[in-house]
Formats: sequence, C-alpha cells, structure tokens
Amino acid sequence: MGALTPGEAIVTHLINRRRVLRGALLAAVACPLCRTAAADEWGYHGAHAPKNWAKLSPDFKMCSTGTMQAPIDLKAPQLGAANSVTRDYKTMPLKLINNGHTIQVNAAPGSTCTVDGERFELVQFHFHHPSEHLLAGKAKQLEVHFVHANAAKQLTVLGVFMEPGARALAALEPIWAAAPASAGPEREVAGVTIAPEQLFPPSARHYRYQGSLTTPPCSEGVTWVVRAAVRQQRPAGPEAEPPGAAGHRLTAI
Ligand SMILES: [Zn+2]
Repeated sequence: MGALTPGEAIVTHLINRRRVLRGALLAAVACPLCRTAAADEWGYHGAHAPKNWAKLSPDFKMCSTGTMQAPIDLKAPQLGAANSVTRDYKTMPLKLINNGHTIQVNAAPGSTCTVDGERFELVQFHFHHPSEHLLAGKAKQLEVHFVHANAAKQLTVLGVFMEPGARALAALEPIWAAAPASAGPEREVAGVTIAPEQLFPPSARHYRYQGSLTTPPCSEGVTWVVRAAVRQQRPAGPEAEPPGAAGHRLTAI
C-alpha cells in the first residue's frame, strides 16, 4: 500500500477501546445520542457489556463489524490549518438533564462549529468519566463531548479532556452545582447561563479522525476533533470528583 496521509496514519492507530479496557469500564458512561435505540438494553457489564452489544439487537451490528469505530487511542496530534475547525458559541441558559447515562447540557439554538467550511449546530454537550478516548494510552479524569449536527444529520463531535488541577474552571461550577443526582427530565436552571466556549483549552492542537458513535448503534461517519491540551477543572482532592460521576455510576453498579 502507498504512503499514508496524516489522517490515515491516525486511523491506523484505531483501537477498539472496548477490547483494550475490557473490565475497566465500570465508571464509563454512554453517549446520549443513542437513547432512541434500545437505550435501556445495553450497558457496560454482564450480558449487556460492550462485547455483547452487537448481539443485543440487529441495529447494533456495527458495534462488532464496524471498521471505523470510536473511541481510539490518540497518538499523533494533527495540527489543523488555522481555521479548519472553528467555533461560534453563544452564552445560553443552563438546561440540564441526567438521562441515566450522563449529565448533559442541552444547547440553545445558534451556537455552531465549522469544519473545513461546513457548519454544524451545537446540539448538546455531556461528560464521560473517565475519558473515552485515550491520550497516548492513558485515560483522563473527564472528557466533554460537544455534539454538533448539520441539516443532513451528519455529526461532528468536539472533545475536550479535563483533569484535576490547581486552577478551577469557573464555567463548570454552575453545571456541577445544579447537576441532578438521579435521572429525570430536562430542567432549566433559573437565572443561570453557561458559556461553553470557556470550557475549551486555548491551544488549538487537536486530533481529528472519522469514527463512530461510542455507544450502540455505533453508527459510523462521525467526525471527531479532540483537543490535545488537557483542561484543568478544579483543585485535586476528594472534592474533585464531579457530581456527574454519580450519574455515571447509575449504569455501572
Ligand atoms: Zn460522549
């Protein structure tokens, strides 16, 4: 075969993390994009564990037969062109939901990202604990997924790693403060706004590849852009565990 393009080189590192971390996904959470498809029939352990997802439903076949599955172990940062991936996020009312898999913030209309000139609208963002992608073989404390869709329902997800650090990330505090401890309907937090832009690290270095949903039905064709820089989110210590982790455990124990 010929020389690999940078994108292909990254894809050659593709690892089915579900295999790599088999048995280590107790605290993992599900991408809420998949709530419409048998949301209650898959999980992370026992008969519903990732290795069995494809057996749970014909709709989940791609989970075992897919060739471009996410997440992966990110190894070779791709320095994108200066304006290849940009964001235009607005400050928005804080609308939170604990959907039983994760803490999710539903976005108000009007915030977008643009990838190679194509615009996608921010739909929601949510948290994974620990991170789903690996950074040079290691998981981080948190990974935030900013989920965008275009008119054709194609998805672009921007990912940001977070870990405990010396500096608190003020933009997260309203989310932790209001995160519902148990699953329930969306609720708007009166008088509180959120600025998602502030959750991004200043460096634009990122990993970019074509992957999939990370949960059933594991559909492919998802563009992933994951920031290489790790954002510090609050002082390390017992208090550093975000309330969202409690929500994650709903699916773990
Ligand atoms: Zn996700």
